[in-house]
Amino acid sequence: MIRGYAKFLCKDCGHEFEGLDIEYRGTAESQPLPCPQCSSMNTKKSHAIFKTKPLVYRR
Ligand SMILES: [Zn+2]
Repeated sequence: MIRGYAKFLCKDCGHEFEGLDIEYRGTAESQPLPCPQCSSMNTKKSHAIFKTKPLVYRR
C-alpha cells in the first residue's frame, strides 16, 4: 500500500532523497528504497522532515 511521499536518508553516503512511502508487507514499516546516488539499500525514512501527500482512491 502506498502511503504517499516521504524523505529518505541513506546511511551509507548521507544522501537525502524523496521517494514513495510504501508499506512493507502490511506492517507499519516502510519499504526501504535504494539510494539514487550509491544504490545502497541501507536507507531509512527520515522522520524529522516527514511530509505526506494524502492519496485518495476513488472510482
Ligand atoms: Zn547513498
